[in-house]
Amino acid sequence: MSRTTLIIRSAVALCAGAVLSVAVGTGSVRAAESSQSTTQGGPAMPSRGDAGPAVVRLQQALAARGIAVAGGVSGVYDEATASAVATLQRQSGLRASGKVDARTAKLLGLAPTVTVTSANLPTFGSAGDVVWLLQAALLEQGVAGAGEPDGQFGVATRKAVTAFQTRRGLRASGRVDDATAAALGLIPAPQAPKVVTAAASPSKPAAGPFPAYGERSSAVTALQQQLIAAGFAIDGGATGFFGPRTKGAVEALQRRHGLAATGVVDAATAARLGTAAAPAPAPVAPAAPAPTTVPSLVAFPMQGKCWFGDTWHDARSGGRMHEGTDLIGAAGLAIYAVANGTITRTYDGLALGGKSLRLTAPDGTYYFYAHLDSFAPGIGAGVGVRAGQVIGYNGATGNAHEPHLHFEIHPGGGAAVNPYPYLKAIDGCRNTALLPQ
Ligand SMILES: [Zn+2]
Repeated sequence: MSRTTLIIRSAVALCAGAVLSVAVGTGSVRAAESSQSTTQGGPAMPSRGDAGPAVVRLQQALAARGIAVAGGVSGVYDEATASAVATLQRQSGLRASGKVDARTAKLLGLAPTVTVTSANLPTFGSAGDVVWLLQAALLEQGVAGAGEPDGQFGVATRKAVTAFQTRRGLRASGRVDDATAAALGLIPAPQAPKVVTAAASPSKPAAGPFPAYGERSSAVTALQQQLIAAGFAIDGGATGFFGPRTKGAVEALQRRHGLAATGVVDAATAARLGTAAAPAPAPVAPAAPAPTTVPSLVAFPMQGKCWFGDTWHDARSGGRMHEGTDLIGAAGLAIYAVANGTITRTYDGLALGGKSLRLTAPDGTYYFYAHLDSFAPGIGAGVGVRAGQVIGYNGATGNAHEPHLHFEIHPGGGAAVNPYPYLKAIDGCRNTALLPQ
């Protein structure tokens, strides 16, 4: 499996909101670094080859976000550090350059950051950090057309805001009002909505308040770190944002312990994670699994000839269970979008999934594709695709012994369901002709 190979020989200096990028081609990086100016008041961000306290701060900030730097906090901006920076960037929908640019520095808390409040909500036509935070939140929510954050509140951003508002049942104004900002986790909700769940009972002593869906806080980060430590993977890692992936991990934890899989952190759930001092009483009754609705697939995900079986929850290495369907076919076969939606994540080289991506439909359901040989030209985070469009090519990257597509369905952005019946319903494995593009 190849690690990040995108190593750009450039040096970046950060000056209070301005980014100075110096491309030095194949020449000396050190020379460019030493000539950088930091006279505009901002701290210079470390770049490849640097050593010193600034690199230590960078590596500590990466570690604090749960991103391991091979070799630890060495104080040297080496290959491993660039790789960790690239990991953070991929998780956050940024270009995985491995360089600490302005956005990355802000994500890591290394540069002055803005906080969104009711007083500075981003408005149409404006630009800057609050707009970037809005766009990052929209992308995190898998809103179609959200695109890669650029800090410019233009027509596309307004459309994405409207789409998000429609999805959440808010007034579809395209304007970021308090309710919209709260729903996006940009500002605290005025009053945390009380979610009644089968597992929570009013008489139960709670050690809360517990992090809630849509919240962005250090409490969420702590929750995510505990989930990850307990073996519940959260794609994107401990970002501090309680989004669909965190909810899915909470649901998985709840299912494992026989709790109602609500995705809501209550006292009983927190007790399983060690966030509440006292263990909660046993749940009254194991709740029936919440009904999930999956829209039928519009297009089959792979060009024929291929085959697949129902391997849902088959044992896998390391005690894992198989959470998808494997479609086996020759390397290089076209891989198709199964629905209209947006590519919300691409991964260059997951340890298990290799070259992988995530396609999110407007209802929040996402489809995870793994082991691709390559992405189709133009495919990247934020790109809208239509069902049947070629988004990549079949391969065997990551933990794969033969070329195949590992395919998952996550209804509403939650836990995976068995894709087999959905695939069987539209089985396209005999269709060897490329779909019209
Ligand atoms: Zn698989």
